[in-house]
Order: sequence, then structure tokens, then C-alpha cells
Amino acid sequence: MIHFRDKNLIPIWEKLQSGIELTFEDGITLYGSNDILSIGKMAHWLQREKVGDAVFFVVNQKIEPTNICVLSCKFCDFAVKKTSPEAYEMTIEEILSKLNDELMEVHITGGLHPDWEWDYYVGMVKEIKKHFPKIDVKAFTAVEIDFFSKKFKKSIEDILLELKEAGLRTLPGGGAEIFSERVRRSLFNQKIGAKRWLEIHKIAHSLGIKSNATMLYGHVETFEERVNHLLKLRDLQKETNGFLSFIPLAFQPGDTGIKMRNQFTSAIDDLRTIAISRLILNNFDHIKAYWIMLTEELAAVALNFGANDLDGTVGGERIAHDAGAITPMQLAKNKLINIINDANKIPVERDIYYRPLKLYSEKIVGKVSYINTLPFFQNLNFNNYKIFTAPPRQLGFLFKEGFIDAGIISLVDYLEKESDYRLLKYGIVGNKNVKSVILYSKVPLEQLNKKCIAVSDETSTSFRLMQAILELKQGFDLNYIREKISYRKTNLSHFDAFLTIGDDALKFMNNKPEQFKYHYDLAQLWYEWKSLPFVFAVWTVKNTLSESQCEEINQLLENSLKKFFDGKIEIEKFHLSNLKLSSGEIADYLNNLTYRIGVDEIKSINIFREIYDQLKMSNKNIMNLIERF
Ligand code: SF4
Repeated sequence: MIHFRDKNLIPIWEKLQSGIELTFEDGITLYGSNDILSIGKMAHWLQREKVGDAVFFVVNQKIEPTNICVLSCKFCDFAVKKTSPEAYEMTIEEILSKLNDELMEVHITGGLHPDWEWDYYVGMVKEIKKHFPKIDVKAFTAVEIDFFSKKFKKSIEDILLELKEAGLRTLPGGGAEIFSERVRRSLFNQKIGAKRWLEIHKIAHSLGIKSNATMLYGHVETFEERVNHLLKLRDLQKETNGFLSFIPLAFQPGDTGIKMRNQFTSAIDDLRTIAISRLILNNFDHIKAYWIMLTEELAAVALNFGANDLDGTVGGERIAHDAGAITPMQLAKNKLINIINDANKIPVERDIYYRPLKLYSEKIVGKVSYINTLPFFQNLNFNNYKIFTAPPRQLGFLFKEGFIDAGIISLVDYLEKESDYRLLKYGIVGNKNVKSVILYSKVPLEQLNKKCIAVSDETSTSFRLMQAILELKQGFDLNYIREKISYRKTNLSHFDAFLTIGDDALKFMNNKPEQFKYHYDLAQLWYEWKSLPFVFAVWTVKNTLSESQCEEINQLLENSLKKFFDGKIEIEKFHLSNLKLSSGEIADYLNNLTYRIGVDEIKSINIFREIYDQLKMSNKNIMNLIERF
């Protein structure tokens, strides 16, 4: 419940709750409002809808190989000319000497060097991957990519493909500054404009290179230009779904000579910009509070204003410091963890693709991020526990590592840890069908032998169930490739079939993929094989919980289910719009599932346990699955 002091914000709140995207006018209304707390609360609501209580960070290192730049952007306090006494150039060996095995990501950007050869850049990425295979390389802004393309007379595609081949994972989001021709002419007229920046990121996305996006604000731009910037990013994200995160960057005036009313942006403006970014960029999963520029204190507040990422340890950052940022050069990982815990969030150490690696909080309940867990969670109040929401496979990974105390976990992940966890009386069960675990195929199932199947990167159990049916029952020999299968942007035409699960599978329900004429509900195939329901996920708790604590949780779950199914099922409009289904269709879907584990369910789990053991014994199956991200 938000008590709006500015009533103009109420229609915006209604749109957000209905899953309707905000317009340019809404953006201007938000920037024109003094009701900062209400804007923050709306952003925090959307943040929690997207990622629950998680706040991400990465153990990373910033490298700027040179500060020599052929350009002289007015606002840049970092670049110098070759003859400057402050000029520096790093060799690849010097770059390698700054890395270590603890790092998960290296972030490389720098000046546009007049003399370096193309081999230097490709060699840099290659050598990093050779010496530190675990480190993911995020390198070269669109401005640098454009510079390489012109200097080395190669197309953008060729530049990006060669870098990808060398080991580049993602592009950083810088270089765009603000998408305004007026500002570009005034502050960085030699640099690429919005059109070229967007074009380069679009090409990167088409080549499977994800990227980030930034917006430099707090200099000479107007609120209209900020909102336009956000809308352009949202449009490209609709087309490509290739952006991982958005980072609003507060301008650091330093010695740039750009005269401001106040030297630094105000805390209010920073928080408002983070919140408005969260609200307008409804198709971005992550909004970053870049603590280097914001200060640690403000970044902490931003975690309740729509931001769900603190970037990382950022060892060795120079650009912001040369411009006068006041935060320490290297914020210890522990400090980041404390900031996040103090904001009552879950610190999540991640990799470059936002896959969670470790959680740094106690008392965590795991929740699969699909609508089918709503009957449990809509009315559930787990006092003193924080909820961590993720797709089944990510959640399963953290569960197996021991970070999850209780929760609804994919069946095969539970089977891996049966000795440490106790089964409760609840789960997600498909009876004669499930509707949200579907194999789409170009050919009838009987003809799938020797084919290649794309497998959703979110599945644990459904993949094993598919293997059981196709390999053990049908006797097929198949190849699998893990893919991000998204309703929003999916190019699966080169596969013979694909397996989609959860909310994405539901989004396909009324919009079947044209080329894939045949679709198979895996719960239905299991039922036809074993005459039993199939248990996809189970509620489980750590063995350390006492009998009475387990009973208490069982009771909470039972009450929650009863409340949910008692009378008419009420689904928030936000979910309906997200899933592209009517409330009747979602109610039918949820009513069709079973949530209690009874005799048949236990029998089915026992049969599947044996099958799963058989599958694990077969090395071939593992060899045939290519993990690609
Ligand atoms: S902003 Fe980038 S391109 Fe412009 S002068 Fe600085 S380093 Fe060079």
C-alpha cells in the first residue's frame, strides 16, 4: 500500500500493477514529482516482483589498458595525449599481473589508442582466458568497437566475432553517455551517437554477445533527454532481449570544466533516476547502483529504490577516481555483503550472466520463480526468513551447495541431497498433464532419434524426465544443447525440437511456435508410461530443523494453500500481463496441478529415483549435453 502525496503518480502505479509499460509522459511526470518516497516504493515493488530479495555483486577487476585517447571529449577527465607525462600504456603481461584466481570477471575499457594493432586487443582477451579460464571478460564499449572497425577496416560483425572467438563474453554499457544529438554535439562531438551505439549493441546481441547499458546523467542533459534515453533502450531490449543490466552513472565533474549548478548530482536526483530507470525499463532484469560513483552509503539506500545490483569489488578502477569520486579504490567483498545485509536483502555473488554462485545470508527460503508456486507463497508469511527466487536449475545449484534452508526445490536436486534434507508433504505435481513442461518438435516424437534438442537452461528435473522418456523408453540417441529459451526472443529454427518449462512454456500456450508443429506434455507422456502423476518439485527443509519445526512449516503451507484455493482464485493483473494469459486460463492451469504429496506421488518419486540413477550411470548422456551460455 503506497500513500501517495502526489496524486499524479496514482495512474502510473495502476499501470505498473497491470503490467502496462510507462510512456514518455509518465517519465516526465515522475521526474516532475517531489514525492520521491512514493517513486521509490513503486520501484522497490517492481524490483521485488523481478528478483525478490536478491541483490547481486561480482568479484571483479577493472582494467584500463591505456589513458591515451585520440579523442578529447569535454567531460572526460581520464584521457590524455601520448606526449602527456601522465600517459600510460599497459602490456598484456602487466594486465595479467593484475588478475588472480579469485576473480570472476574482468571489465576492460580504455582510451582509443592511436598506434596499437588489432592483434594486441585479440591477444589480450586470449591471454586472459588462457591464464585465467574462470574469469569472464567484459570488454570494449561500443565506442571502442566502432574505433576498431574503422581503424582496422573490419566490419562490426567481424570485430565482435573475433573477440568472441578469443573469449569475450559481454560488452560493457558505456560510451552512450546520453542519447541526445544536442548533448553529443556540445560535449563529445567526435564520439559515436545513439544510432551507432544501438546498432553495435544490436549486432552484438544477434551474435550471442550480451551487453549492459549505461546513462551518464547530471551534466547538461534535460529530464526529457533522460526519459528518451531509457525508452530507446527499452525498445532495443524488446527486439533483442540482449541487455543484462542498466547502470545509471552520476556525472563526476572533477576537472572537466563543465560548469554545474552543484558540482555533484544530489542524492535525491540519484535515487530518483535509479527508481525511474527501474520503472521505465520494465524489460530489464537488473538495475545497478554503481557504488564507485554514488558512494557506498547512497548505493545502500538505492537497494530500496529499485536497484538490485551493486556491481562488484571493482579493483583498480581509475576513471571515476581521476574525476574525483570519493569512495575507496577497492571495497572489500565483506563490506558489500554487509551493505546488502543491512538493507535486509540477500547478498548474491554472481557471474557475468547473473547466475548466482553463493548466497551470504542465513535463513533463506528458496522459491522457484514460476507462477505455479503462487498457491504456496501468496499467503505465506515466513517470519525471519528471506525469500530467494530463481529458476529451478539455479535454485538447485544453490540448494546443493547448502545455501538454502528450506524451499520448493526441483526433484532431481532434492534427490542429490536426500540425506541432508527432509521431505515435507507438499510439492508441484502434474497429474495426467502439466501444461508447463512442453517438448516442441518439428517432427513426430517417433522420428526424433539422432536429432538435436535445445533444452531450457532453467530446467533440472524436466530435462531428466525428457531423457528418461526419449532415451530409456524410446531407445533414442540424441544431442542436447542448453539454450536460453525465452518467449520474448527465441531463435530456435536450427534445432529439431526444444524443451521449454515454467512461465515461458505458458507464454507459448496461446502462441505456438510455427515451425514446431508437434508438442508433447512430459507429464502426460510419463502418465502414459507409468500410470502415475509426475512430481516436478518438492518442499524440503534442512535436517537440522526439528520435527516440530517441520510440522509448523507443513501447517503454514497447508493454510496458505487453503486460503489460495478457497473461493475464486485472484491473480494480480501484473502476472496476467506478464504471462499473456487470462485469469481463467491461469486459474485452470493452477487448478490442474496437485500440491500435496500422497501415496501415488511417493511411488512416482521412487520409480523416478531409479530411472535417474540409471541416467546418471550413462556417461554418454552427459557427453551429449552441451552447456552453452
Ligand atoms: S570519453 Fe572515452 S573516447 Fe572520450 S576522451 Fe575519454 S576515453 Fe576518449
